[in-house]
Amino acid sequence: MSEVISVIGAGTMGSGIAITAASAGIEVCQVDVSSDQLERAKQYHAKTLARNVEKERMTADEAEATKARLSYCDSHARAAESSFAIEAATENADIKKKIFGAMASTYPADCILATNTSSISISEIGSGVGDAADRVIGMHFFNPVPVMKLVEVIKSPATSEDTLARTIALSERMGKTPIPANDFPGFVSNRVLMPMINEAFHAWNDGVAGPEEIDGIMKLGCAFPMGPLRLADLIGLDVCRDIMLVLHEGLGHPDKYAPCTKLVELVEAGHLGNKTGKGVYDYSS
Ligand code: NAD
Repeated sequence: MSEVISVIGAGTMGSGIAITAASAGIEVCQVDVSSDQLERAKQYHAKTLARNVEKERMTADEAEATKARLSYCDSHARAAESSFAIEAATENADIKKKIFGAMASTYPADCILATNTSSISISEIGSGVGDAADRVIGMHFFNPVPVMKLVEVIKSPATSEDTLARTIALSERMGKTPIPANDFPGFVSNRVLMPMINEAFHAWNDGVAGPEEIDGIMKLGCAFPMGPLRLADLIGLDVCRDIMLVLHEGLGHPDKYAPCTKLVELVEAGHLGNKTGKGVYDYSS
């Protein structure tokens, strides 16, 4: 019998995690409260599989089999069969805590409860799950999930060695390279990356240079594949703002970690980057 996992949240990351797992032979129940988001995820999966066939990365039969392993649900429909529940919902501690409370009472007693949070404390997300705390872990994938190799695996003081070992095994089965880190705000990746992105907004805001120049200088000068402002659009400006807030609240140092007003203004205007067609740059054409 093939392994079944549930992926809660069908946005940028959840839809990427779902297709990566399904491509690795795992059955996936993609869960979201929004039927529009479930439909968008389904279309993204169909498009990705068609492109994989066109580029001869998989055969048409393999694409059909992958599609058949994906289901789309507005409830935890396959909870009883799931070995993993991977939460990839909006980066908000209250939303995630509520989802984890529901996961702890809905999924079986040996199911790993993983979160794809970019920055929120794993202990805090798991604070309402009672005896299930040893099965709570961070499984931080990177965007775009089918392409990026890293999974930052975050262990809280309550996470068991068995949970860590099973999470490493699932990551490897999905073709990823898991690297462990401890439970601090932003972990390793976003503690280092986000202040750099935020500083690029400050440089733009202060008039040091425009976005094209800032990105051009960082790309060529640091051998980055894309500049920090272009990367912020890809990640989602709301996600970047939220991560800065978590660093600010968790680590203090407002001068270092408060989100730049330029970033906050774009988010408040609804310009969230690639996902809304406009962020730092305009993607409408
Ligand atoms: P997104 O806004 O694209 O998607 C979030 C999804 O969560 C939406 O579809 C929303 O309907 C759903 N959702 C909200 N409340 C829910 C609930 N109660 N139950 C089920 N679904 C619910 O966000 P995203 O960019 O995919 O980010 C998701 C998570 O992944 C966040 O924790 C984020 O920090 C993390 N992350 C994001 C990136 C990135 O580059 N975007 C990278 C790594 C990690």
